[in-house]
Amino acid sequence: MPGSAWSLVLHGGSGVIDRADLRPEQDRAYRHALAGAAETGAAVLRAHGSALDAVEAAVRKLEDEPLFNAGRGAVFTDEGKIELDAAIMDGATLGAGAVAGISAARNPISLARAVMEQSPHAFLIGAGADHFAQARGLEQVEPGYFFVESRWRALEKQLRREGLPVPPRPSGVAADHPVAALAHDEGKRGTVGVVARDAKGDVAAATSTGGITAKHWGRVGDSPVIGAGTYAANASAAVSGTGEGEYFIRLSLAHRICALVEFEGLALQAACDRVVQQDLSRLGGHGGVIAVAPDGQMAWSFNTSGMYRARIAEDEPLAVAIYKDEP
Ligand code: ASP
Repeated sequence: MPGSAWSLVLHGGSGVIDRADLRPEQDRAYRHALAGAAETGAAVLRAHGSALDAVEAAVRKLEDEPLFNAGRGAVFTDEGKIELDAAIMDGATLGAGAVAGISAARNPISLARAVMEQSPHAFLIGAGADHFAQARGLEQVEPGYFFVESRWRALEKQLRREGLPVPPRPSGVAADHPVAALAHDEGKRGTVGVVARDAKGDVAAATSTGGITAKHWGRVGDSPVIGAGTYAANASAAVSGTGEGEYFIRLSLAHRICALVEFEGLALQAACDRVVQQDLSRLGGHGGVIAVAPDGQMAWSFNTSGMYRARIAEDEPLAVAIYKDEP
């Protein structure tokens, strides 16, 4: 039943994440980081902040965390560079902002929000987007900020697998962070995303990613593509995805879930399950989604062995999960 209660769901990526893969200290570190980000978003909602502010705050927290493939912990391209993608959408206005292939903003999600609120555009890419970030005074960082040793090792492994040369390490690389060694390689991928419903009943979605390890040719996935990896509309739901972006793009996956809710009247969980377990699986794609509806329904669904995830609501305690067999 619709109420004034707020709710928030987040993910930190999906993929090959089996119990046997994570050491106990890795498991603990991930759960701690997921809980911290969920609490950051919940604090905004508890203080009667907007869903938009909540999703941005929670994604920023995940972007600053080296464990996840977004912001600081982003994976490297085949050239040993960082190319970040992010999108944010306001379900109340259908305002949207997205960036792709950016390399200097510490928090790509805030740049996406600046695109939405401070430019006449919805989607900026590459050097132009980086210039826009500088001009708007968003915090810029050196390439070394994004260096996480385990991500570099994952790049080396992937390039060797493809028979390609390993590029030199970026200059000015920061000393290895002890927590960074805990980062788990979910099979080249990873992403962070947050959806929220505020006390007014507005919903918002935000997604941020480094894409896939050793990506070539300016590859962009679904995360910054409005309707594919990110979508929010008060008429239906807010959705953020994680997984094989090429499939999410081909299915307009996030928007597809919203369309089933709006036009077919499906319950949120049923819409997420239908699109992920049936449509995505049938096409041969892997991944997952999180979602909230303006009436407070929360949902997640994934067809991978795990998805880092958390949910919290005004009337529901924080729940953090990683593996498939967890509720
Ligand atoms: N969806 C992301 C991409 O394709 C990766 C992921 O979520 O694992 O860029």
